[in-house]
Amino acid sequence: MKKITNRAVSVLLIAVLIIAGMVVYVLRYVDDGRDWALYFARANSGSTGVMTDRNGALLAAFDATTNAYSDDELTRISCYHVTGDYWGRTGTGALTCFWDEMHDFSLLTGTTRSESVNLWLNIDAELNKVAYQALNGRKGAVLLCDYRTGELLCMVSGPSIDPLDADAEPPEGAYINRCLSAAFTPGSVFKLITAAAAIENIPDIYDRTFYCEGVYEIAGVPIKCSGVHYTQTFEQALANSCNVAFAQIAVMLGQDTMVEYVKKYGFLDSQSLDGIPTAAGSYPQEFVGDPELGWSGIGQSTDLVCPYSMLRFVSAVGNGGKLCEPKLINDGKAAKTVSFMKADTAEQLASMMSYNVAAHYGGESNFPGLKLCAKTGTAELGDGTSHAWFAGFLQDEEHPYAFVVMIEQGGGGLSAAGSLANTLLQAVVRR
Ligand SMILES: [Zn+2]
Repeated sequence: MKKITNRAVSVLLIAVLIIAGMVVYVLRYVDDGRDWALYFARANSGSTGVMTDRNGALLAAFDATTNAYSDDELTRISCYHVTGDYWGRTGTGALTCFWDEMHDFSLLTGTTRSESVNLWLNIDAELNKVAYQALNGRKGAVLLCDYRTGELLCMVSGPSIDPLDADAEPPEGAYINRCLSAAFTPGSVFKLITAAAAIENIPDIYDRTFYCEGVYEIAGVPIKCSGVHYTQTFEQALANSCNVAFAQIAVMLGQDTMVEYVKKYGFLDSQSLDGIPTAAGSYPQEFVGDPELGWSGIGQSTDLVCPYSMLRFVSAVGNGGKLCEPKLINDGKAAKTVSFMKADTAEQLASMMSYNVAAHYGGESNFPGLKLCAKTGTAELGDGTSHAWFAGFLQDEEHPYAFVVMIEQGGGGLSAAGSLANTLLQAVVRR
């Protein structure tokens, strides 16, 4: 009897071990199966993958034995945050985010498609090179898309690295894609959101005038302006980028309305670029009182904006209020189109942004030949430095491009970011 009991215990023990082993195997399979399958597929069947830009220029390619990138160093560096690398060091890289698709790995069969898989991107590597060179070593983010189709033509983040130079010490923050994975103080570029809320909520906004003496006190707290603008209309106040006028407008709107618009335009949420999650922004949502509300309405306070969210906003304005969600991958499918803002609001904003360029940004002399609508931002960081922003679009049937340029601690919005935007826009219009 004792013998039988011992035997039963042994059998039970063996069964438990087998089940435990299988559980471990399944867990490891789910976790690592992709890598195993990849290993076997590459070793046995010669599965290959190719990633190209919109013009067919090679960005990355792998086969059974090699992981390759473009032969051109400037392409590798300027497109690094688009392609990523084979080690996944930048989380938003296509090699990391679309690895499964490129291998077409099936958890069910444990195999990858053992044939060549192509990932065709909307990015134009030549534009990325132009943007990267124009950044000229500065930290920043450059984005450009076609607002009619959503095609993302340019995405550059600085500093960058050469993925072939895997052992080199990377510059600080080089693995962060500043276009998608970070949010920055927006400064005056945020006045576009305050302006949109004003257009829809202050019925006589175009009949009002705003008086600026260079400083304005709200509940004893001074809001300083960058200039002295005296009496101005709403349109002139945006072109002057008058802090006094826009702090007053934010207070007139009230915090609830401001929060409603910041939320409605998606600035507080993480967005998705073909499934790649982007950074959420921030805006004061707990009660802050009028002085802080004034500062938040002009893009200071605790405001933070992800450059990608700003690209969605200016794209929608350019496209008459309808947003074609930007697309990194050219998969032949049409972009998802959403109603982003009222058509009338988009039209008013576009007209004001066109006036900005003509009246205050040097128009034809700074942006020759471009039908440009834009807004500058010089976001004060409190230490004497500022982020330079320039965001807008071309009001041009043949060249329907929206863009965002942000240079970290880059100085003035127009002088730093505006001139980079012009370099990029001249290049895209010529292509
Ligand atoms: Zn002013």
